[in-house]
Amino acid sequence: MRSTTLLLLATAIVACTGTKTTTAPAAPASAVPTDAVRELSRMGSDAVLWQNASAEAYWIYKQAYQQALTRMMWNVVERAKAYRDNETRRPMAVIVDIDETVLDNSPYQVETVKSGRTFDQAEWKVWTDKASAKPSPGALEFLLMAKEASCEVFYITNRDVRERASTLKNLADAGFPFADEAHLLLMEGTSDKTERRARVRATHDVVLLVGDQLRDFDERFKDRSVKDGKATVDAMADSLSKYFVLLPNPMYGTYRDAVQGKGTDAEKLQRMQEWFQRNGY
Ligand SMILES: [Mg+2]
Repeated sequence: MRSTTLLLLATAIVACTGTKTTTAPAAPASAVPTDAVRELSRMGSDAVLWQNASAEAYWIYKQAYQQALTRMMWNVVERAKAYRDNETRRPMAVIVDIDETVLDNSPYQVETVKSGRTFDQAEWKVWTDKASAKPSPGALEFLLMAKEASCEVFYITNRDVRERASTLKNLADAGFPFADEAHLLLMEGTSDKTERRARVRATHDVVLLVGDQLRDFDERFKDRSVKDGKATVDAMADSLSKYFVLLPNPMYGTYRDAVQGKGTDAEKLQRMQEWFQRNGY
């Protein structure tokens, strides 16, 4: 027993010495998470677990993409009927978001929870540089069917322009159609996708949009001031039903930003705690 303890101690000393003499890479600024960061990270752990590992999330994605296929086909038929005989037909398109829509970044989110951190742009880029995100369940099959149905696919994402090459590589390696510069509209200055959607609509008949955020359909969903945005959902239910399919993402997004607001992690944590104080029964 005693010799085991000594062995462990010796191993620990060697390990520590090794750490000191090794040239370690420069630690990122967030290497030592503050208590607020750790607490915020811990608050997100159930959401990350659900998204990454649950059969429920897996099936909801597949179910949603089945629904997307049905809606797309109905809208394709309707568009075709709407054209008069001599009218020149415009090409049709499907618009999809990328993150948590066609690519699954939950492994990155698992890493943040594991290390007690929250989202960090530099660490995110390390992840996207790997270009190894797996397709979301059902996404690849749906987009290949969209191509079969003569719909071009446009990827409108809030990844930034420095992630262009790795994003295209990830999409192409995974087998997604239209993984080229002309069909990838990255964030250039604003997270508001309205102008980028308009650019696609200027040349194409858009038959369906798919995203994990309601803002992937319409920027009006950024406003959560009236009934947490549910009033806007009710007001737009008809067009949502016909032209949009929403995927689940409890890990991050407008719903959480509306509560946390902007500022330091300590301020975000404070607002989260206040939200829980105010609600319930
Ligand atoms: Mg997304």
